[in-house]
Amino acid sequence: MSADNEITPQSQDFSAWYNDVVQHAELADHSPVRGCMVIRPYAYRIWELMRDALDEQFKHTGHENAYFPLFMPQESLDREAEHVEGFSPETAMVTEAGGSELEEPLAVRPTSEAVIWPIVADWIQSYRDLPVKLNQWANVVRWEMRTRPFLRTTEFLWQEGHTAHATAEEAEEEARTMLGVYRDFMEDWMAMPVVTGLKTDAERFAGAERTYACEAMMKDDKALQAGTSHFLGQNFAKAFDVRFQSEEGEHEYVHNTSWGVSTRLIGGLIMSHGDDQGLVLPPKLAPHQVVIVPIWSDAEEKDLVMTVAQRVNRVLSRSVRVHVDDREHVSPGAKFYEWERKGVPLRIEVGPKEVSSQELVTVRRYAPEGRERKRTYGEGKAIAMVPQVLEEIQDDLLQAAEERREERSVRGMEDYDEFRQHIGEKRGFVYSGWCGDGECEEKAREESKGTIRVIPDPEFRSEDAPSTCLVCGDEATEEVLWAQAY
Ligand SMILES: [Zn+2]
Repeated sequence: MSADNEITPQSQDFSAWYNDVVQHAELADHSPVRGCMVIRPYAYRIWELMRDALDEQFKHTGHENAYFPLFMPQESLDREAEHVEGFSPETAMVTEAGGSELEEPLAVRPTSEAVIWPIVADWIQSYRDLPVKLNQWANVVRWEMRTRPFLRTTEFLWQEGHTAHATAEEAEEEARTMLGVYRDFMEDWMAMPVVTGLKTDAERFAGAERTYACEAMMKDDKALQAGTSHFLGQNFAKAFDVRFQSEEGEHEYVHNTSWGVSTRLIGGLIMSHGDDQGLVLPPKLAPHQVVIVPIWSDAEEKDLVMTVAQRVNRVLSRSVRVHVDDREHVSPGAKFYEWERKGVPLRIEVGPKEVSSQELVTVRRYAPEGRERKRTYGEGKAIAMVPQVLEEIQDDLLQAAEERREERSVRGMEDYDEFRQHIGEKRGFVYSGWCGDGECEEKAREESKGTIRVIPDPEFRSEDAPSTCLVCGDEATEEVLWAQAY
């Protein structure tokens, strides 16, 4: 990270750009513990806005929030490991506490299936107790070797949904429903278009029968797995003996799902819309949707412009999140620069000139070609237009991200050598045929920089998908999406 206020241009070094934005937009700070991250207030507010929007959808789809402990006994991990390949190397263990060695070490949750199901098993007696649809907002710990703020950290915040159902069909439907909730959130709130689909066996969550994912293209043309939803089958039900009495009186194992999104979404937001000036926030997730910057040069002017600024603030704050930046010892230019760096969607400037002409200057953080970035309106009109302008900015950002993704996507690639070169140099999304054999997937993973991100859902598939496997040339059974991944 550079010590001055300069942000490294994306084209020069995307990774340095990312770190600069995280620092200069005051999103995160380092922790004395390697791999951990301090989420600063500005980024935490973005997380709160994300959380509120998602939480409403979780409740709307019939889920209840609960909270389960951070620690679990070693025995729960062992039981899980008998049935599913677990997280063991990534799991942090507490072996000492209260001044002495613990008789049984405690594990810090890397995810909570093994915390939740041994307990909830007792809540379920008969089919009448099903479905159980829980969610928790929590922190989890995974001992990661290589970490980056928001994208991969040892401790992170997330939500984890955990459900139990009487039938496999119902659980499958739940996993698909929540994938849809994630997709809608990412598109409608984050303005981040995603391709949804099924993970291959090599890429799915160890304990799952099927893993569905949302994959988004970042501005460096790499893919970010932004959310996953798992149909777990009866793997965890068997590990933790979660059974119910069916209508016919039989004792059966439940069918589970789990699904989660994390503070990684903030990384996705940064890399979907940010530019060389810094962060660009979609209005729906901006802590301040509008910042008013009053401009004065003496006390008399200050009184005049502050009267107008406060009046505009009063009216606007009924419908949008607005902030008046009336700091004394910061120049207007420095304020403009700071709020641009922090991605505030719309700035309103009020100076003595605007006071006398009863006008306001509005400046968009993001304006595509064909829209004016800076416009001057009469005060009343400017105020009335703000909600509409914010909606436009939200739509413009989604549209720009969609167009960029389509420009950087190649469909129907059949030549393996061309693929290796393309995915290594140009990156982007590549759609191809695949025979379904894990060996072809593994070969391409070893020989190229790309991996299969998903077997796309029908609406993302090509009209004329190749009929042969990109890697071996045999008959293709699936169309797959390849990319370099975060
Ligand atoms: Zn093949």
